[in-house]
Amino acid sequence: MIRVERIDDLRARCEDTRHRGGTVGLVPTMGFFHEGHRSLMRAARAHHDLVVTTIFVNPLQFGPTEDLDAYPRDLAGDAAAADAEGVDLLFTPSVAEMYPEPTRTTVHVAGLTEGLCGAERPTHFDGVTTVVAKLFSIVGPCHAYFGRKDFQQLAVVTRMAADLDLPVRVVGCPLVREPDGLAMSSRNAYLSADDRRRAPGIFAALRAGVRAVEDGERDPGELRRLVERSGGARGIDFEYVEVRRASDLAVVDHLADEIVVAVAARVGASRLIDNVTLQISGARVASDLGVITQGSA
Ligand code: AMP
Repeated sequence: MIRVERIDDLRARCEDTRHRGGTVGLVPTMGFFHEGHRSLMRAARAHHDLVVTTIFVNPLQFGPTEDLDAYPRDLAGDAAAADAEGVDLLFTPSVAEMYPEPTRTTVHVAGLTEGLCGAERPTHFDGVTTVVAKLFSIVGPCHAYFGRKDFQQLAVVTRMAADLDLPVRVVGCPLVREPDGLAMSSRNAYLSADDRRRAPGIFAALRAGVRAVEDGERDPGELRRLVERSGGARGIDFEYVEVRRASDLAVVDHLADEIVVAVAARVGASRLIDNVTLQISGARVASDLGVITQGSA
């Protein structure tokens, strides 16, 4: 694996691969790798000649009171993990490399960014789309792998690529969970032992929601309240519980077709997000609660 810090180096290596007829798979991240990140690298490795992983804790996507400075970092551990997953190129630019001047250009995806996490974090998605647009521009034609853990982010980035005709195919990959159901997140590192015991209550509440739909619940308001109550009983105070159409995050008044139940909760010092998608066809319900890893919880 080669590590590069310069935009020009990354661009040249991607161009060289395509010039020789190869394809590029891109995995953008903020580092502090866990199995969720690694699953994206494996998906890219399975399909492409050159696998590029980027690590950049992007200041633009953090609000003024958020955890930019405290965000966990471990470059040596990340490099070893990326190497073990067969990543070819690890791009670790500095802030000065990515933003030599304060950027005057921002990419904004309207509508999709307004509810859910956009309500609590009004500038967050503009930061994400701006840096992802830069990475797509630097890497060029490729497939880019994103986790369904950040469901709204995936929808926003997919729409950005379509609206701007970017030569990038965005690929959504399954949400990876700890053995006790907690969605893997770099921010789980902030959890105290007590908070860590409480946090799987988020997953349990989503699972209770799935069971209710399996038992015939078709009212989004009832489903929201049930998930809220189920979380509350486990010490989880949700910031939001939203039931939306999965394809475009539109508000729904009846549960049918593909639905996402998306939640955020503050647990101790961490703001955690999670979701489940449901495919509802008449009385038939299929749910995607993600991939539970094996191991000792
Ligand atoms: P981050 O480093 O948190 O910005 O995440 C980088 C990429 O990894 C994003 O596409 C995330 O959606 C994805 N990711 C983070 N956690 C998970 C998870 N538990 N399962 C699957 N993908 C994840």
